[in-house]
Amino acid sequence: AKAKGRNTYHFYNQELNAAAKERLMIENELRIAIKEQQFELYYQPQVDCRTNEVVGFEALIRWFHPTQGMISPVKFIPIAEATGLIVEIGEWVLWEACRFAKRLEEQGRGNNISINLSARQFKDSNLKALLSRILVKTSISAQSLHLELTESMLMGDVEVAINQLLELKMLGVSLSIDDFGTGYSSLSYLKRFPVDILKVDRSFVKDIPADSNDMEITAAIIAMAQKLNLNVVAEGVETSEQITFLKNNNCYIVQGYFFSPPLAEAQVPELYKQLALK
Ligand code: C2E
Ligand code: CA
Ligand code: CA
Ligand code: CA
Repeated sequence: AKAKGRNTYHFYNQELNAAAKERLMIENELRIAIKEQQFELYYQPQVDCRTNEVVGFEALIRWFHPTQGMISPVKFIPIAEATGLIVEIGEWVLWEACRFAKRLEEQGRGNNISINLSARQFKDSNLKALLSRILVKTSISAQSLHLELTESMLMGDVEVAINQLLELKMLGVSLSIDDFGTGYSSLSYLKRFPVDILKVDRSFVKDIPADSNDMEITAAIIAMAQKLNLNVVAEGVETSEQITFLKNNNCYIVQGYFFSPPLAEAQVPELYKQLALK
């Protein structure tokens, strides 16, 4: 039994080591990635499922590592956040996504652009000035810039968060709550947050229509959003059954593999062609 215990410990230790090593590797490589511009933005369309028209895109970062290939943001964003590297990466994301939105506008496709903000960026006292500079330089309309925040970012010091939200609103941008339903913001707070859009998390959508609980929760979120005068976007929509359910419950803007995965900018013209044929 003793030997077994030692072995377990040994393996556990090895696993920890591997995780710590990977973390350290990613941290070091992230610094290089910033310098050598190994990041790219992909864009996933948000589609009005009544008309199949694109109403906007969410910018999603991709890291193409020269030897390890694509590294998922799920892996590196938390490390970038913990090390503070997210501030620089996030600033690049904001510029790049807004320039993309400008190029679309110049092609006569005036669509919204949604950008994920990290907790550090949201707390950064320079954020408003940065956004204002980006809006001036790219000359995209402020309303078309949607900033995605999560509930957990707002729930720490609620008063501070509300003030920051109000500051951002003064720029004219739109604010979304991402992954809605997965955090623990109470409804009374939700009413006080000056936000414009709720994004229903994929975890509620993915088992529709098999899971009747998820259907009830999704319908309740949509109904509540409407009561609060918020727009709703459903995330992770993959099937026509899900589209039908969402439409029947008055949610029309959807994002997910049903219409398209996130795309490199070069693939975007093809998307418009495909949707026109649907
Ligand atoms: P998120 O903001 O919730 O983004 C949605 C994620 O769901 C994306 O994963 C997207 O590719 C994926 N997705 C979209 N439609 C479907 C679908 O129909 N089925 C399934 N299974 N998945 C779908 P991705 O691109 O790997 O990004 C993961 C997370 O990384 C994002 O979750 C976001 O939290 C974070 N992230 C990505 N880009 C950025 C960024 O530029 N800045 C920050 N701070 N975070 C980012
Ligand atoms: Ca998001
Ligand atoms: Ca989300
Ligand atoms: Ca998510």
